[in-house]
Amino acid sequence: MRRAALVFAALLAACGPNARMVKTAKDGAAIGTVKLSWSNVHVVFGTHPLIVDAGATGEFAELVEGLRLLGAPIGSIRCAVITHGHADHAGTARVLQLSGVKIIAGAGDVDRTWRGVHGPHHPTGVFARILKWFLPETYRPFVADVLVTDRYDLAPCGIEGEVVATPGHTPGSVVVLVAHGTIALAGDLFRGGLVFTTSPAEHFYQDDLKRDHAQIQMLIARGVKWFVLGHGGPISAAAIRGRFQLEQLAARNPAKNRGRFQLEQLAARNSAIVRDQREPLARPMR
Ligand SMILES: [Zn+2]
Repeated sequence: MRRAALVFAALLAACGPNARMVKTAKDGAAIGTVKLSWSNVHVVFGTHPLIVDAGATGEFAELVEGLRLLGAPIGSIRCAVITHGHADHAGTARVLQLSGVKIIAGAGDVDRTWRGVHGPHHPTGVFARILKWFLPETYRPFVADVLVTDRYDLAPCGIEGEVVATPGHTPGSVVVLVAHGTIALAGDLFRGGLVFTTSPAEHFYQDDLKRDHAQIQMLIARGVKWFVLGHGGPISAAAIRGRFQLEQLAARNPAKNRGRFQLEQLAARNSAIVRDQREPLARPMR
């Protein structure tokens, strides 16, 4: 099965780096996307370019080439935000770190990132149960330079924006908000369709589906107009109107969900600012 996965990845990789701008300065922030075999890596242009996510193991050279095509040579990158500890998003984080890039990641995923493991799958559909046999499972472990428990201001990285903790897809999932909070680089909060990539779809896996949906609603309530995603996209907030509704989820199990997933609760949870909260524990690196 692992051989089949490698062949599958090689076929995808044969397409080479696909790099293009997906937002420009007139949208509030210039953002480029490098489409790798398993996921998208984004670059936000500021005083220094910021990478959002890091592809899968073995994709570093392709990522560097894609970044170069977008006008963001690897030597110009000061920081990278890893939206969560899945193997298709955190794969080259340690290599980036060794290249001098400051790695920012969610505190809730250290059990994955410290061990370099994808972690448990929680499929949201039948196809996902099959797909998981083909997905990358491991990556080089890393200890993030900044662990985000709540919010992190990206000014030291040369970017006008912030990282916000949005647990749900995984406990340590984070999004990057730029363009005065109107654009969210949202990892796997949801995904674009496999064929119609700008049509919203439930992500294949969600550790906590209801909490993930609550985060989508919270971000829209905060003013997000565009979601730049780890798979497919970008997708406008208008395009997901009627999808991922708290009301639908609550209706499925009203007794269990009463009082949960309130926007006010989530907003309060995200209100404190944690700046540069460095990992206090030492851990030998491979
Ligand atoms: Zn994921």
